[in-house]
Amino acid sequence: MSAPTPSSKKSAAKPSAPKARGQLPKAAGSKRVYCYGPAGTEGDAGMQDLLGGKGANLAEMCRLGLPVPPGFTITTDVSIEFLRVGGAFPAGLNEEVATALSGLEKALGKRFGDPHDPLLVSVRSGARVSMPGMMDTVLNLGLNDTTVEGLARKSGNRRFAFDAYRRFVQMYGDVVLGVRGADGEDECPFHAALDAKKRAVGARADTDLSAADLEELVGVFKGLVRAHTGREFPQDPTEQLWGAIAAVFRSWNNDRAVAYRQMNRIPTSWGTAVSVVAMVYGNLGEDSGTGVAFTRNPSTGEKRFYGEYLPNAQGEDVVAGVRTPLPIEHLEETQPRAWRDLQRIQKLLERHWRDMQDLEFTIQEGQLFMLQCRAGKRTGFAAVRIAVDLVKERRISPKEALLRVDPEALEQLLRPVFDPAQLEAARRSGRRLTRGLNAGPGAATGRIAFTPTEAVRRKSAGEAVVLVRIETSPEDIKGMQAAVGILTARGGMTSHAALVARQMGRVCVAGAGQLEIDTAAKRMTVGGQTLAEGDWISIDGNSGEVYAGQISTRPSEVLESLLGDHPPAERTPIVAAYHQLLGWADRERRMDVRTNADQGDQAATAIALGAEGIGLCRTEHMFFGERKIDAVREMILAEDPEQRAAALAKLLPLQRADFAAIFKAMAGFPVTVRSLDPPLHEFLPHEPEQMAELAINLGVDLERLSAKIHSLYESNPMLGHRGCRLGISYPEITRTQARALFEAAVDVFVSTGRAPLPEVMIPLVSTARELELQAGLVRAEAEAVFAERGVRFPYLVGTMIELPRAALTADLIAEHADFFSFGTNDLTQTTFGISRDDAGKFIPLYIEQEIFPADPFANLDEAGVGKLLEIACEGGRRTRPGIKLGICGEHGGDPRSIDFCERLDLDYISCSPYRVPIARLAAAQAALRRNPG
Ligand code: ADP
Ligand code: MG
Ligand code: MG
Repeated sequence: MSAPTPSSKKSAAKPSAPKARGQLPKAAGSKRVYCYGPAGTEGDAGMQDLLGGKGANLAEMCRLGLPVPPGFTITTDVSIEFLRVGGAFPAGLNEEVATALSGLEKALGKRFGDPHDPLLVSVRSGARVSMPGMMDTVLNLGLNDTTVEGLARKSGNRRFAFDAYRRFVQMYGDVVLGVRGADGEDECPFHAALDAKKRAVGARADTDLSAADLEELVGVFKGLVRAHTGREFPQDPTEQLWGAIAAVFRSWNNDRAVAYRQMNRIPTSWGTAVSVVAMVYGNLGEDSGTGVAFTRNPSTGEKRFYGEYLPNAQGEDVVAGVRTPLPIEHLEETQPRAWRDLQRIQKLLERHWRDMQDLEFTIQEGQLFMLQCRAGKRTGFAAVRIAVDLVKERRISPKEALLRVDPEALEQLLRPVFDPAQLEAARRSGRRLTRGLNAGPGAATGRIAFTPTEAVRRKSAGEAVVLVRIETSPEDIKGMQAAVGILTARGGMTSHAALVARQMGRVCVAGAGQLEIDTAAKRMTVGGQTLAEGDWISIDGNSGEVYAGQISTRPSEVLESLLGDHPPAERTPIVAAYHQLLGWADRERRMDVRTNADQGDQAATAIALGAEGIGLCRTEHMFFGERKIDAVREMILAEDPEQRAAALAKLLPLQRADFAAIFKAMAGFPVTVRSLDPPLHEFLPHEPEQMAELAINLGVDLERLSAKIHSLYESNPMLGHRGCRLGISYPEITRTQARALFEAAVDVFVSTGRAPLPEVMIPLVSTARELELQAGLVRAEAEAVFAERGVRFPYLVGTMIELPRAALTADLIAEHADFFSFGTNDLTQTTFGISRDDAGKFIPLYIEQEIFPADPFANLDEAGVGKLLEIACEGGRRTRPGIKLGICGEHGGDPRSIDFCERLDLDYISCSPYRVPIARLAAAQAALRRNPG
């Protein structure tokens, strides 16, 4: 048989004017079908929205003169219209498709449905952005009991013709007619029949089946269709075509596609295009085949052509894994002409799109045809390396390189990883236990501890520990610190465990709901397996997977280069690329990037990762240290101001030492310290034994102690006696904290000669008067310390804007504030009236139903919370032009929210230490988007 004529270089080199053949050109916008091929090409790569990525790029390849089988694309608009009216084609589409099809027939000299030499087509899905494998495609359409004989005669290859026919019945049966395994049965009935046939004739692979075997199989497949649908397999090619087009449109709403859209925030309203493409045949024999290739390695980014090839096969075989494909280099020997063409084309395509491309191709009797190209999906490692390499190769500018890398992808470069071979072995031997939320990236393996105390004990005995909890609370902090990983049964991405884990750089899988944890019995059960304290467990914070047993990990080489004691002398390509990219980012960004840290070592880590100060130091985290908690409890339980003053006097030197460590690590950078924020009962024990222990330690009566603890109980602590309300009730707490801070600052100044830049922040302010009182205390204490020590340096006193009332009255509050820092965690809670700790129960449903576009605790809600931020910025600047503005909520590490902060013109963003590089890149991207050029 003759191959479909590829678009010759000559005809495609001069792109033809976009006009529909055989009819008057329609008004722009109403055109529904776009053709491409040797007779002219109507679309191009710029038309992804209308033609889908696949259709637009097929047209573009055609314009580039590449060998692409001709075809036409029905626009995404049609699919939306089709789905909107419940599955009817818009009037006039019929004629447009008929015209396009006859153009295709003319180009190839074949007719659709011709019993002697039939034109066959594929009907392919294709959204605006690629959604690999999520929607459906049908190949070899146009075959029936008559045309298959024509195809067999014309090609002189009966086996090929029936192989194509059995593939067509199978795909059409599955995609269009819905012939699938019964519910709960994964097995596809066609696969089962194919396997049975192979067994019956002793064939190892499908290629071992003869023409007669395949002919029989077609009969069996048609029988399956009859049994499942009660109807004969449709024989009319036109009916087949419309059936397939409708099915591809409908596949926009299949479960996989819907889930993928949610994960990737792709709007339902985009729809899918349908490309109808003349078939080329990779299943004509050993000199034919099909493959997938990348212009560079998609997992390492190495500049080396990479791919797989399957001889005597059609496209879907590579993905489905029916046979093991060969490395692409094989073609160099077996198909030298196609290999040469492929090399030329892959270079040309990468140059044309100026990015790594993912290619699909088919070789028909030695001749190469291109079937798809798109920007290739890649790991974070590859994304960074490719972007930087393309700049070195002078294909793109540094600014473009910055916009090419998803900031979140950097996280992969910083985390330890599981040894790939061991991970695979764990999977194969059934050690996978369950899956939770991938809350803190990286890989951790260690022995199980069910309590923080046990975690600390094991850690000091030199063991690697994974802390397993139903959920974590602030009291667990020491245990979390001691653990390499944290696994919880309850809680979401912004739960305490997740938040703290990210801040500490711990691997974390949260909300693994299938875990049944019995802390008392020191056991947990999941999926029929029981694990005890001390057993090995491995958690993957990138995927959320949990495995029984040990899987060894490797540290990230990028992190080694930043923090390691002995960074390797020579940088590997990925390490070099990381440093280069972040260097460019720092040049482009306008906002400063600070970190949320409350210990010297965290601050040091953050600086190594590029932080330029602390945006939030939570003093209460310091309170949980070894000796401190008892003094804190004594202070809380004090009966009168004298007792409280005595307890605070014990606390003062301890806090001063903590502050000094931070100021030292942050030399020359601003440090924002927040005064005590959480409700006091969070610091007190609640278990009877612990209460008894505390009573003895403090030498107080147990009954009075428990009465006191009971009196501090609040029914809604989040909205209770916390934040500046504590400082108003107990001014000596604010005063002592301020004194510890300024004494530490003076000590550091005196010993290092460098003045720290303290910024004292009062939390949970809702009225100007609250701030006026608290700021007054702080300033008085600062002046007292300066006077005592005979030195002084500048400092700021400001507030966290985290209540709607504060945002609304920011102009008044700014009278007393040198700066505002947006506490968007609490501001989101109070704006929505949603408690973050309880949100996990319904937010997933809200996202599924598109009530919320995303979790507002992860991505700042611009429309609501954002509006309060705008009001507060405007009010603050009106009263105090140039007031310093920053953000310290979790959103400060979220690229989308960072983009919003740039548009608000904030001075800085602040995030957990390990997100600093992500924030640096995101801030650079935000600046570039705001001021391109
Ligand atoms: P997906 O988007 O899932 O990759 P495609 O529409 O690209 O689906 O098609 C699935 C497979 O069929 C791919 O390997 C593709 O190359 C192959 N294919 C699609 N159309 C044709 C055609 N006209 N001739 C030969 N192979 C085709
Ligand atoms: Mg494809
Ligand atoms: Mg708060």
